[in-house]
Amino acid sequence: MRVAVFGARSYDRLFLTVSNAGHGHDLRFIDAPLDPLTASLSRDCRAICAFVNDRLDGEVLTILRGNGVEIAALRCAGYNNVDLKAADQLGIAITRVPAYSPHAVSEFTIALLLALDRKIPRAWARVRENNYALDGLVGRNLHRRTVGVVGTGQIGALVARTLRLGFGCEVIASDPAPDPALEAIGVEYVSVDALLKRAEIVSLHCPLTPETRHLIDAQRLADMKPGALIVNTSRGALIDSKALVDALKARHLGGVALDVYEQEAGIFFDDLSNEIIDDDVLQRLLTFPNVLVTGHQAFLTEEALAAIAETTLTSLSDFEAGRPLLHRLRATNGMGDVR
Ligand code: NAD
Repeated sequence: MRVAVFGARSYDRLFLTVSNAGHGHDLRFIDAPLDPLTASLSRDCRAICAFVNDRLDGEVLTILRGNGVEIAALRCAGYNNVDLKAADQLGIAITRVPAYSPHAVSEFTIALLLALDRKIPRAWARVRENNYALDGLVGRNLHRRTVGVVGTGQIGALVARTLRLGFGCEVIASDPAPDPALEAIGVEYVSVDALLKRAEIVSLHCPLTPETRHLIDAQRLADMKPGALIVNTSRGALIDSKALVDALKARHLGGVALDVYEQEAGIFFDDLSNEIIDDDVLQRLLTFPNVLVTGHQAFLTEEALAAIAETTLTSLSDFEAGRPLLHRLRATNGMGDVR
């Protein structure tokens, strides 16, 4: 089957090509992200493959369907960028990779937390200049600190478990579906509001839905403990970024580590080192000494990329062969609501 692979980076090409040896699809790699302008590149393709910042709204899906596309395979877990209702109405099947390596993301979350808290990027920048002074690099032990994990699905559960059993943190959590295995190791479930008031460190692991957009807004930032840290490796729009800048300017937060950013589409995954960036909020965030930003790389391990490629291509092979699609998303009440 001919597949237009949008936003294809070197690592996508490598792992999809290796995995495709067992599937035999005709993969057309396209550098550009999927949007209303590039959607026409799907001509003659029965399938497309897309990633987190590709646009699969009603406008793009209509163009894809007009080109004969019958299936869009997301090579990611999150699907907040897809209008599932429009896809269902147009008859385009949407699949995703619900689990590829929660370890990749949970380990990166812990790495970000430690790097932020122990000021490792600042220390490394100094040492490279032969500055071995330690002033300004004082951190805190993780041991016995209270960490709030919002969303204890596959990734959040691993983060909670590692912090509880590995570092001896007090872990509180918030999730509409509490995990008894976490409760058994002493994780206490509380409401999001209670969590934000009690936690010294907050790590976000819930999906982005209309209900969770700006879950962390100005009011909730103000309610957080003074000096609290926030780590977000889930989706940028869980946090109101402008309110975050204000909370940092007010010296209310201790620090923030972000692998995802609300307006990352069009910025992340590209080398813009020679460009002038128009996004003033991101640029302001980058000026704080207590902010650490990475470009949506928590998933980026060899194990995860191999698993993503295999699951994505298996969905396409199953579709071509008329077999049931294990990881199909369907809409009930509109964008982001699946059964
Ligand atoms: P998952 O579906 O296994 O778990 C999500 C959990 O969030 C579920 O337990 C759900 O009940 C809970 N939840 C839903 N709404 C909530 C709310 N309002 N408050 C608290 N909890 C809520 O998902 P996962 O595999 O653990 O992934 C979590 C998120 O991580 C994904 O949605 C995705 O956006 C993000 N992610 C990021 C990267 C990256 O590279 N940075 C990679 C993979 C996934």
